[in-house]
Amino acid sequence: MDIKDGFVGTVGNTPLIRLNSFSEETGCEILGKAEFLNPGGSVKDRAALYMIRDAEEKGLLKPGGTVVEGTAGNTGIGLAHICNAKGYKCLIIIPDTQSQEKIDLLRTLGAEVRTVPAVPYKDPNNYVKLSGRVAQEMENAVWANQFDNLANRLAHYETTGPEIWQQTDGKIDAWVASTGTGGTYAGAALFLKEKNPNIKCVVADPMGSGLYSYIKTGEITLEGNSITEGIGNSRVTANMQGVPTDDAIQINDHEAIRVVYQLLHQDGLFMGGSVGINVGAAIALAKQMGPGHTIVTVLCDGGARYQSRLYNREWLASKGLSID
Ligand code: PMP
Repeated sequence: MDIKDGFVGTVGNTPLIRLNSFSEETGCEILGKAEFLNPGGSVKDRAALYMIRDAEEKGLLKPGGTVVEGTAGNTGIGLAHICNAKGYKCLIIIPDTQSQEKIDLLRTLGAEVRTVPAVPYKDPNNYVKLSGRVAQEMENAVWANQFDNLANRLAHYETTGPEIWQQTDGKIDAWVASTGTGGTYAGAALFLKEKNPNIKCVVADPMGSGLYSYIKTGEITLEGNSITEGIGNSRVTANMQGVPTDDAIQINDHEAIRVVYQLLHQDGLFMGGSVGINVGAAIALAKQMGPGHTIVTVLCDGGARYQSRLYNREWLASKGLSID
């Protein structure tokens, strides 16, 4: 018998998918870790599970307690599912710039959702800082604190990284991923570098994020913007500190959109915007490295969460973007 133990038992062990059209175009094996197949629909289920387990093990989260988090959506969705499965309450603080689909889903799952104006991290009313204060002021509540809670990257060090290593039989030349908290990139990079220091680890960054310039020059500069959600940062989180990184690649929205529409029309994969950045960077890396290499990236979540934006021509046009 092969039976999973509820929602929690179904997190992780996702397939690694060959992205056929881009593999053929580049002559590299471009592989995507199918995180959209997690039970909560995104890469963040793994971190949500590890952060809740960590809080339980430390005795911080007690029966009937509340998990509080500031999130662009996917971490909140993972947390809300796990809270339901384990009998906790869930309070999510989300910037009002995120897609309505994610906000609606969070409410459907039973989370209390507070939308707040999107303000920079240095502002005390930034959604991340606000969520920390709200958790502190509540009875029997914990703050998941995904950006600086190392249980986040541990999830990927202990699960995503080893899965990629096994699924490729150790035949992997490069690992490339965009970062929100950095948990996915960092955890897998730390594991893969331990296995083979020659695996090239590369951060993919959208426009408007500071990591590209930080990795290239040591300084954070924020230029441009992006319609992608859940990725990019103006600071180096605890999860990103001390992580071996060989390079960074910046991908603009025009390229990300081209990539997600090709994945949809030629590969049958209906993906979210961060996948466009990830696969766009994998393609750029394939061109740099030349044919014959195996490059692994992440398929973070599915397109249904962005129907009203990324898959809506009028909305794209309002941002000065088009599909063709
Ligand atoms: N893509 C999407 C759609 C996300 O929601 C997130 C997490 N915010 C990421 C990528 C990045 O994941 P991480 O936080 O592990 O860096």
